[in-house]
Amino acid sequence: DVSIHQIVFDICNTFKDKLAVEEFLTGRKYAYGQLKEAAARVASALYRKGYRKGDVLLVFSTNNVDYIVLMVACAAAGVWFSTASPAFIADELAKQLSHCGAKGIITVPELAPVVKEAVVSEHFKTNVKDLMVFGEATGFEPFQNLLDDDGKAFPDVDIDPVKDVFVLPYSSGTTGFPKGVLLSHHNCVANFLQYGAMVPMGPEDRCLGLLPLFHIFGMTLNLFPTLMAGASITYLPKFLPKSFLMCLQEQKISVAHLVPPFILFLAKHPVISKYDLSSVKRIVVGAAPLEHNLITEFLKRHPNVERFIQGFGMTETSPLTFVDTTQTLGSVGPVVPNTLAKIVDPEIKNPVAVGTPGEICVKGPQVMLGYHKNKTATSDMITSEGWLHTGDIGYFNERGVVFVQDRLKELIKYDGLQVAPAELEALLLSHPDIQDVAVVGVLDEAAGELPRAFVVLRPGSDITEDKVASFVNGKVALWKRLRGGVQFVDEIPKSPSGKILRRVLKAKYL
Ligand code: ATP
Ligand code: MG
Repeated sequence: DVSIHQIVFDICNTFKDKLAVEEFLTGRKYAYGQLKEAAARVASALYRKGYRKGDVLLVFSTNNVDYIVLMVACAAAGVWFSTASPAFIADELAKQLSHCGAKGIITVPELAPVVKEAVVSEHFKTNVKDLMVFGEATGFEPFQNLLDDDGKAFPDVDIDPVKDVFVLPYSSGTTGFPKGVLLSHHNCVANFLQYGAMVPMGPEDRCLGLLPLFHIFGMTLNLFPTLMAGASITYLPKFLPKSFLMCLQEQKISVAHLVPPFILFLAKHPVISKYDLSSVKRIVVGAAPLEHNLITEFLKRHPNVERFIQGFGMTETSPLTFVDTTQTLGSVGPVVPNTLAKIVDPEIKNPVAVGTPGEICVKGPQVMLGYHKNKTATSDMITSEGWLHTGDIGYFNERGVVFVQDRLKELIKYDGLQVAPAELEALLLSHPDIQDVAVVGVLDEAAGELPRAFVVLRPGSDITEDKVASFVNGKVALWKRLRGGVQFVDEIPKSPSGKILRRVLKAKYL
């Protein structure tokens, strides 16, 4: 039970001049010793700027090495480190800023206009006093100022690792608007140890930093266990086929944490053969279902990969609860050490037999403190005995290995990002010509799934499909656009309790 910054500082003292993190495109980097020094200076600067334990700082940025410096600095200062997707438009950002109650925000120059618009939003009241930027932008304090601090105001904060919040990430927003998740130092440290015990790394490893740092997978699991092993990570700001493949080749990446769309790319794309990817020995994948056949196809194409490891996680569990060390392709493996798992009937909640699908439930030290400002949602998800109901359906085989089938709630995964049908539906319903609507994912080779809206028009309306699509597309982030089109229908199938039956809709029209 120690705080994150103490752990990181200890590692930094051990590995001093060894490379910790670097950016592939710019070459900016921190050796372990420099990482500690920078984080200590930034913690001091935050204190001078008036940040105190429990204040929230929100990062709205693509991946870069200072993102990590700031995360460690916030841990030392007791400041809650929150993150938002850089794909958000101003209204979405404003909503999250308002919900998390951030006192400050830091961004990159390209996103500065979105921040400016968000902080003066008419729809959501934000309380942001402090604008900062990695780089330079008018009206924003450069992060370099914080890095230039003399470190003398390094805060002496009393951190209780079990009770105090380290990070406040938001869930992906697959089933609604993202939920703020309170994770303590203890939650995260426990999970790093659980992961490290199952998938050990060493100082010789070179890891890929493609996963976005704003999401739990990139923020905690891809980063800290790697640092704790004394390995190094090379970051990319976004997925572009060429820079991704160049990075794997030139940096001689040995361990790559990925999400399924990248596996699809590496398994199928012809351009792969132009690169020497023989250094890649381990692949760790999670966050969405990944089909057994696709993994086999991937491994045929990449015989250098010695271990292909699938894991299962949620923002609410810091994130990891299952990881496959048994090489059972298509499964997420057994539950991680020091965690209990059971599969229950989703209706009556009693455990089901081996082989029978049901809702996956877990209990362990990585289970969140709770949702931020949402006690009802917390108690709906976590029982008084500490069992977290994942909302995902899966089953155990006779060796205790779990296969995830689907989630109870719905999801559309576009290009590794998630689109909430309910969010698009709510927006569509605000249109005066629209009577009813359901959004579902239609399959797409390249992007995974594309959102399509099934729309029931008000009688007498003469609006076109294109008009409905552009109504939505002008109001949401690029990746949420109705790229699967709009289709007018007579009615939306619903269950007696009023829920949309997306399966029925798909079976009928797709
Ligand atoms: P929200 O909770 O906001 O609706 P979300 O659940 O997608 O969004 P995350 O916390 O990022 O937000 O994702 C957790 C979910 O991802 C799990 O509940 C599960 O549905 C899915 N998931 C994670 N790993 C796997 C996996 N290996 N196989 C299948 N699904 C997975
Ligand atoms: Mg969820």
